[in-house]
Amino acid sequence: MVTIKKLLEDYKAELTEAIMILSKLMKVDKSYIYTHIDEELSEEIVRDFNYIMDKRKQGHPIQYLLGEKEFMGLSFIVGKGVLVPRNDTEVLVEYLIDYIKDDRKKVLDIGFGSGTIGLSLAYYCKGIDLTGVDISEDAVRIANKNREKFALENVKLLKGNLFDPIGEDKFHIIVSNPPYIPKWEIEKLESQVKDHEPRIALDGGEDGLDFYRKITKDSKNYLASNGMLIYEVGYNQGKQVKDILLENGFTDIVILKDLQGYGRVVLGFYR
Ligand code: GLN
Repeated sequence: MVTIKKLLEDYKAELTEAIMILSKLMKVDKSYIYTHIDEELSEEIVRDFNYIMDKRKQGHPIQYLLGEKEFMGLSFIVGKGVLVPRNDTEVLVEYLIDYIKDDRKKVLDIGFGSGTIGLSLAYYCKGIDLTGVDISEDAVRIANKNREKFALENVKLLKGNLFDPIGEDKFHIIVSNPPYIPKWEIEKLESQVKDHEPRIALDGGEDGLDFYRKITKDSKNYLASNGMLIYEVGYNQGKQVKDILLENGFTDIVILKDLQGYGRVVLGFYR
């Protein structure tokens, strides 16, 4: 029989992660691991643990292996086929929660992935009516699981390309964290991202701005009057995306900075 102590001995270099994985498998919190190091483990747990640690060595993101990622205080189901939610995106979501409060706004999330932006808005702003669109089958499946997990009402998640499935609806807010990595930069990303996360969620075309151009132009047909268009952008794209909004007649443009001082959110209004 293998004890906790014995099992963890081989993983000294990645102990924090090993403890996180083990506590998840044992369904206990981390402090339990520290205080029960002589406890013997079932064969099943040892097997699952070694399997996950092996996959980690091959570069699989830990969030896929654990099947979840914390975002805005909620534990989102994630998996292969959707981008792992980045905590960077919380800047945008916190801004919108504060902007929307309890208002009855119609919100459209373009390219929802696991659903982090739209579903955390629906969770914290009970007055909204949320529509989401994503072209990926995996995204629609996983985001719907999250919708059920958080028991969210007034949420519609549609499969399709950008505005294609929308019809005649108009929205007070259109939000998107589109793929924005320039094609040539993808090969320079760390293996965990470029070899395991979906390219389709990263690739923003030659200069990374393809989706900002397309969404900004088309959004004008789907915004209610004085509607807001709001984006997450790459750390060096703030100025360029602001220019795209200006060229399309948007006004009152704001760039919000992250904690490092990079402009990571760009928003504007269409009158
Ligand atoms: N922020 C992501 C990354 O660092 C990219 C997300 C996106 O393209 N929307 O890989």
